[in-house]
Amino acid sequence: MSETSSGQFLPVMETFYTLQGEGYHAGVPAYFIRVGGCDVGCVWCDVKESWDASKHPVSDVEVLARNVDASGARVCVVTGGEPAMYNLEPLTRALRHHGIRTHIETSGVYPVTGDWDWITFSPKKFKAPYESIYQLADELKVIVFHPSDLSWAEEHAAKVSPECMLFLQAEWDKKERSYPLILEYIGKNPQWRLSMQVHKYLGVD
Ligand code: SF4
Repeated sequence: MSETSSGQFLPVMETFYTLQGEGYHAGVPAYFIRVGGCDVGCVWCDVKESWDASKHPVSDVEVLARNVDASGARVCVVTGGEPAMYNLEPLTRALRHHGIRTHIETSGVYPVTGDWDWITFSPKKFKAPYESIYQLADELKVIVFHPSDLSWAEEHAAKVSPECMLFLQAEWDKKERSYPLILEYIGKNPQWRLSMQVHKYLGVD
């Protein structure tokens, strides 16, 4: 049995306290835990160094939760990589023990474990998601890399719950080309909102 299989220990690429820059909670101070390991293989991934879990030291989730609490943050965003590769029950239990809200960002390619206050589902064309994610998602965030991604976004929007918030976000390197498209699309389809990666404009992590 590997050290991480119980979920008590997780490979962690980095942790940082910053602002959530994307989606519904943009602007909220949040402590990020970037878990190592991802097998989705997005060509435009901006954290490719996260992919190989073996390159990242394992941390005890109790220590991680204590560090979040000590930072003063009341929201913890667990991201990756693809955090749902792991059993996240122990991590969310430890965070809740300290009264910290639990948020996760996932591509949905693994069943989500753990107890979450907010689930951001960001599907990727490179690997299909599990069906279970559609009813769990609090927000659907689709990255627009190519104009055809708008119709692809609608395919996912048709499957999420009626309460799920819908966001379109330009892939960072293509944003000059994508913003006009997205703005025009949102104007005609106002159930969608723009997600802007505010942290990148501010120059923070
Ligand atoms: Fe990168 Fe996320 Fe895609 Fe994995 S799912 S390859 S971490 S963008």
